[in-house]
Amino acid sequence: MKNLTQIVPSHVRGIAPYQPGKPISELAREMGLEEGSIVKLASNENPLGVSPKALAAMAATLQDIARYPDGNGFVLKDAISRKYGIAQSQIVLGNGSNDVLELAARAFLSPGTEVVFSQHAFAVYPLVTQAIGAVGVMTPAKNYGHDLDAMLAAITQNTRMIFVANPNNPTGTWIDKQALHAFLSKVPNDVMVVLDEAYDEYLPDDLKSEAIGWIAEFDNLILTRTLSKAYGLAGLRVGFLVANAAVADMINRVRQPFNVNNVALAAAAAVLDDEDFVRRTRELNDAGMKQLTEGVARLGLEYIPSYGNFVCVRVENAMEVYRKLLQKGVIVRPVGNYELPDFLRVSIGLESENARFLQALEEVLQGR
Ligand SMILES: *Cc1c(COP(=O)(O)O)cnc(C)c1O
Repeated sequence: MKNLTQIVPSHVRGIAPYQPGKPISELAREMGLEEGSIVKLASNENPLGVSPKALAAMAATLQDIARYPDGNGFVLKDAISRKYGIAQSQIVLGNGSNDVLELAARAFLSPGTEVVFSQHAFAVYPLVTQAIGAVGVMTPAKNYGHDLDAMLAAITQNTRMIFVANPNNPTGTWIDKQALHAFLSKVPNDVMVVLDEAYDEYLPDDLKSEAIGWIAEFDNLILTRTLSKAYGLAGLRVGFLVANAAVADMINRVRQPFNVNNVALAAAAAVLDDEDFVRRTRELNDAGMKQLTEGVARLGLEYIPSYGNFVCVRVENAMEVYRKLLQKGVIVRPVGNYELPDFLRVSIGLESENARFLQALEEVLQGR
């Protein structure tokens, strides 16, 4: 066969595919384990599962799936606009926030333009940059977090976009509001800033983002949010971005007309109003974060203090420890691909799941 990969543009050939957390079903097959005996703390999923309100909304929608979804997503945009006090024209819906991150990149980038992101930042930023043939400019992290001054200094005539994750995944680092606002006021207004707030719901109330209120001030600000984490809908794939209406209009032009399905629209609208579910999620996460960080500290391990629903723990021979944990039915996430080869990222689970992980980790470290 002729080597067809040679007609693929080099920027596509060069993409290192996203490495997802290992699915429970895959580990069960590989190790001959019962699925129910496996603990997965590898993808920052909500250990509470699905909100009953989302389940009810989904069930009510199933009879309509012979019809195309509302391509404008009215029910969900209505819920978002009421919740955040913004116009529907400022919203772009996505098949997960991965989708809106990519749509923002597709709308504003072209081959050769530059995109700034931080070392250890979410893997999707370099991926969507490279898929377009734009040039990723990675600035060194500072204390594992974004160095905003270094990011400002990396801006050139060719820079069109900057990605900032707050809190960041996988490090869990967070930038305070004052520093972020000062940063935005220094970015040239023809450089888009994509502020990814996938974990905002896990922050204490006094630290929660106020960036939606900043959109009126900064035309170049794009905020992304997801229903995958605190809202417990990772498998359904719903996310959205909020921006200036003219920016949202441009991004909507590159969106597939039906990128969010009927069932997802209904569930997302229902769960956005389910404040009780999000509150319980945060309380469980706070308690689990304490349990996990105290537990790893007791084992003599260091970790990066995290504002998300996960924590990076420093371990020697991280890949070997990862594989030994797999053998014990515990899935965590190696983060060597994030230039953090000495860390494992562990998502906060139920109390019993966190305990299983700590027990398994102790055994592995003792060579059992
Ligand atoms: C999980 C995550 C997302 C959300 O991804 P979805 O596509 O919405 O599931 C976005 N940004 C960061 C930093 C994340 O960790």
